[in-house]
Amino acid sequence: MTQLSPLVRPIFENNLRRNSGEPEFHQAMREVFESVSLAIEKHPHYADNSILERICEPERQIIFRVPWVDDAGRTQINRGFRVQFNSALGPYKGGLRFHPSVTLGTIKFLGFEQIFKNSLTGMPIGGAKGGSDFDPKGKSNAEIMRFCQSFMTELAGHIGQYTDVPAGDIGVGQREIGYLFGQYKRITNSYESGVLTGKGLTWGGSLVRTEATGFGTVFFAEEMLRSAGKGLEGKKVIVSGSGNVALFAMEKVAQLGGTVVACSDSSGVVYDSEGLDIELLIHTKNEQRGRLSDYARARGSRSEYRDAARVWDIAAETRVDVALPCATQNELMADDARTLIRSGVIAVAEGANMPSTPDAIRQFRQAGVLFAPGKAANAGGVATSALEMQQNASRDSWTFEHTEERLALIMRSIHDRCAETAEEYGRPGDYVLGANIAGFTRVADAMIALGVI
Ligand code: NDP
Repeated sequence: MTQLSPLVRPIFENNLRRNSGEPEFHQAMREVFESVSLAIEKHPHYADNSILERICEPERQIIFRVPWVDDAGRTQINRGFRVQFNSALGPYKGGLRFHPSVTLGTIKFLGFEQIFKNSLTGMPIGGAKGGSDFDPKGKSNAEIMRFCQSFMTELAGHIGQYTDVPAGDIGVGQREIGYLFGQYKRITNSYESGVLTGKGLTWGGSLVRTEATGFGTVFFAEEMLRSAGKGLEGKKVIVSGSGNVALFAMEKVAQLGGTVVACSDSSGVVYDSEGLDIELLIHTKNEQRGRLSDYARARGSRSEYRDAARVWDIAAETRVDVALPCATQNELMADDARTLIRSGVIAVAEGANMPSTPDAIRQFRQAGVLFAPGKAANAGGVATSALEMQQNASRDSWTFEHTEERLALIMRSIHDRCAETAEEYGRPGDYVLGANIAGFTRVADAMIALGVI
C-alpha cells in the first residue's frame, strides 16, 4: 500500500478512528485521499476551512426501523438507511440498495463515491445513498410491496424533489421504485414525480434510464479504447453480474460489435465461447425473473453453466480483451487481475461501484491496462436520472434516441474531463487520479463558495 502524503494522512487517520468497523468506507476514502493530496499540493487553498474533513462527514445520516408482515403473518424487522452526504452541488442524489449484506459502512462508502461521481457528470446533483439489509430474494410480490411501503413511510419525511432524490441499486429495480413512489404519493397527497428516479414510463420515467448505467459504462470503455487507437469491434468481453447494469452493458457491447462470452450471478457463471444470446438473457432475467441457470437451460448445448464458479477464471481458458465488473464491491481481486492480464486484457471499465480491490487496480496500472473506475464509468445511470428529473420538471418526455445521445455526450465529457485532469497532473492515462481530482475540485469549489456549513 502506498504511503499517504503528510498533507492528508492525519485527516485520514482521524477518519479511521471516527468511523471504525467500516472497511469499505475506509477503502473509498483512501483512494480519494491518495489522488486529492496532489490537488492540495498544487492548489493549497483546498486545505483551507477543513474541506476534506467536511467532505468525509455526511451532512445527515438517517437510520430507521422497517417493520413489515410476511405472507405467513409473522412480523419481520429490517434496518433502513439514508446517508445524505453532500449537497453543495444540488439536491442529494443516489440509489437505494436492498441486500442482506448492507450495513451503515456499505451505505457510507457508496454515498461517498456518489459525491464525486455526481460531480463528474457536471450536473446539479449532490451525493447520497440508502438502502436496507432486507433480502428481496425469494420474497413474494406482496412481501416486496409491504416492505417498500413500510420503508417509504419513514423515508418520506426526509426526501423531496429539491431535497433528496433516491433511485435504484442492487435489489431495487422498477418494481420496487413503483411501490416506493406509490407510498410517497399516498403519504404526501401530491404527484411529485421528481422525488424518485428509475420510474416506469407511464408514471414519470425516462426512456434509457433502465439501460443507462450499462450503456454508459460501455460508452466510457469505447472512449478509452478510442483514445488508444482501438475500439470494441471484434473484442471478446466478459462481464460479472447479470443484473440491471450487466445486462445492458452486454447489450451495448453486442451493438458495438463486441462478443460477450461469459457473465455471472451470485450462484454461478454462464460461458458460451461463441457469444451469449443477450436477447434471451434479458428476457430470462427481466421478463421471467429467472436465474442464469434458467438461461443456460433455455439456450441448450451452446451454453455451459458452472455452478459456484468465478467469472474471472474464464480468462484462464480463453483470450479476454475487455472486462466489465458489474456485480458488487471487491469482487475482482489481485489474482483475478493477474489472470485477466495473462489473458491479454487491454481495458477494464467498472460498471459496479468499487468492484476492483486496490491491489487489483495496482496490477492493472502496472501492466498498462486501460482502467476506468466506477465513479467515472458508471456515472451514466445517475446522469440519466438527472435527465429524468429535467423531464419531470418540464413535464416533458424525450425520445429514446435523444436521451441516448445526451447520455453518450455526457459519458464522452466525463471521459475527457478525467483524461485531461490526469494529463494536467502529469499522469496521462490514469483515470483513477483524473476522476478523483476532477470530481473533488468541482465539489470543493462549491463548498468554498457556500461558506462553512
Ligand atoms: P442488480 O441487483 O440488478 O444486479 C446485481 C448483480 O450482481 C446480480 O447478478 C447479482 O447476482 C450480482 N451480485 C450482487 N451482489 C453480489 C454478491 N455479493 N456476490 C456476487 N454477486 C453479486 O444490481 P445493479 O445491476 O443495479 O447493480 C450492480 C452494481 O452496479 C452495484 O455495484 C451498484 O452499486 C452499481 N451501480 C448501479 C447503478 C444502477 O443504475 N442500477 C448505477 C451505478 C452503479 P444475484 O442475482 O445472484 O444476487
